[in-house]
Amino acid sequence: MEKNDIKCPKCGSETRQRKKGFTHAGSQRMLCCDCGYKYTPNPKQWGYSEETRKRALQLLALGNTGRGIGKIMNMSQSNAYRWAKEEAAEEAKKAPHGADPIEID
Ligand SMILES: [Zn+2]
Repeated sequence: MEKNDIKCPKCGSETRQRKKGFTHAGSQRMLCCDCGYKYTPNPKQWGYSEETRKRALQLLALGNTGRGIGKIMNMSQSNAYRWAKEEAAEEAKKAPHGADPIEID
């Protein structure tokens, strides 16, 4: 029998852990039926590592387009665009109140 190692990160229950669809990145989402907590045991970043993502963002910062990055890194250009968008949103959150907005073109 296959052992289910999935454990609820909130209440620690190892039973009644139910599959609950997938995240946008394709990771399995789980639902704990004991406490109702939803979680992702093995989250993915669009199937790419954090290293890859950082490198793509560096290339973006250097003025590469999503298309160019897609070619350089052998990934989908929409992926690079999405990361750029996410990064811009993150930066906007981090920026102190009243600071000039960062222009992303
Ligand atoms: Zn739980």
